[in-house]
Amino acid sequence: MFKKILIANRGEVALRVLRACKEMGIATVAIYSEADKDLKHVKMADESVCIGPAESAKSYLNIPAIISACEVTDSDAIHPGVGFLAENDHFAEQVLASGYTFIGPDPESIKIMGNKISAKEAVSNSGMQCVPGTGRISATNRETMEIAKKVGYPVIIKAAAGGGGKGIQIVEEEADLLDKLQLTQREALNSFGSDEIYLEKFLTSPRHVEIQIAGDNAGNVIHFFERDCSIQRKNQKIIEEAPAFGIPEEKLQEIRQVSVDTCKELNYKGLGTFEFLYENGEFYFIEMNTRLQVEHTITEMITGIDLVKLQIKIAAGEEIRFSQEEINCRGHAIECRINAEHSETFIPSPGLVTEFHPPGGFRIRTDSHLYSGYKVPQYYDALIAKICSHSKDRLDAIRKMRVALEEMYIEGIDTNTDLHDKIFHEKNFVEGNISINYLKEILNIS
Ligand code: ADP
Repeated sequence: MFKKILIANRGEVALRVLRACKEMGIATVAIYSEADKDLKHVKMADESVCIGPAESAKSYLNIPAIISACEVTDSDAIHPGVGFLAENDHFAEQVLASGYTFIGPDPESIKIMGNKISAKEAVSNSGMQCVPGTGRISATNRETMEIAKKVGYPVIIKAAAGGGGKGIQIVEEEADLLDKLQLTQREALNSFGSDEIYLEKFLTSPRHVEIQIAGDNAGNVIHFFERDCSIQRKNQKIIEEAPAFGIPEEKLQEIRQVSVDTCKELNYKGLGTFEFLYENGEFYFIEMNTRLQVEHTITEMITGIDLVKLQIKIAAGEEIRFSQEEINCRGHAIECRINAEHSETFIPSPGLVTEFHPPGGFRIRTDSHLYSGYKVPQYYDALIAKICSHSKDRLDAIRKMRVALEEMYIEGIDTNTDLHDKIFHEKNFVEGNISINYLKEILNIS
């Protein structure tokens, strides 16, 4: 097992990884930017290294600085967390080339799955159904028009290297196609450094359902059931639930098995998530995330497995010590992503948190790096806390979440807590009538 792990991330996920390391008796190194010296995990880590200025490109995305920090602290491995370099195959390669372990899959797997076109190719070779669409397309070629017509409007144009709900455009009719193609291509180049784009059938009212899997070096692959992440704003998840509900059990068993088989076929090692859209009784693959997910917490609650510890053990070469039959799904868990943003305008709200009281109680879990007196910097992701509730069934988990949201107290900055509160009291959500359009169609929020 590793003696020392460097955590190449910030915020709540860095704290999550630090906690797992501490429990495992592994020493920790926190890296931080000049804007982040007051982060909770920086204070708790055995060692900490400032790796650069606030700007992510010069700190959390600065590969040489991170690897140097690994060297000076004599760490054995790097945990990339979520976001930043977590799905950067070049980073994983550099970590390995420098003689350290990357806690994640091998660079080749990250590379294949990091490009959504090659990801779709790879999984369809092993029998997974994808959203109908194209490979790489040209923004200027008239052939693209023919392809779009064949796929059928509405279509969706996506950046092959996209992520975080960005680099996506919906095209309702042919007249808009060329403009939207060029717009997506420009956005893709600016945000992801690659202008590669592709086109898919736009599914009008699907749910987002994803399967959590883990594979080890010995070829064992286990699934940990699924999560429904349909409640999204601008293609970004804000509420997640586990397991998926209202889908026939045999359909779920089938997609879990296909995910396990695909993972074996790809010789995939580490934690991973296959993301699907579910519409009219069918699952369609959209992408795979080759890292820990923000919403791993709810899977931990229903299965009782610590996924971060498992991830670290797999990276250290240990075999998964339990069988599929030993993993049970117990009850229902829900996660709310609390963001530092206004509940109605969604304007980011960095600043000083004058008071913070997290909710607690039986089967309530709060993962947050906030504390009274902490200043949320303006430079990074708005996620400041994840609240999870777990109970015997969905309705009970909803009731628990209502109490937790009421109990949480954050003063000094705006948060989206009121929006969550509204959703947890809204009839359609409570009854499970949801799709990825929920916010737009039911709450009139764009
Ligand atoms: P990202 O990597 O940016 O998260 P995804 O490919 O996972 O991008 O898609 C994010 C979200 O965008 C999905 O959860 C869904 O809400 C929407 N989306 C993506 N592809 C389609 C599609 N073909 N039809 C309808 N909605 C889609």
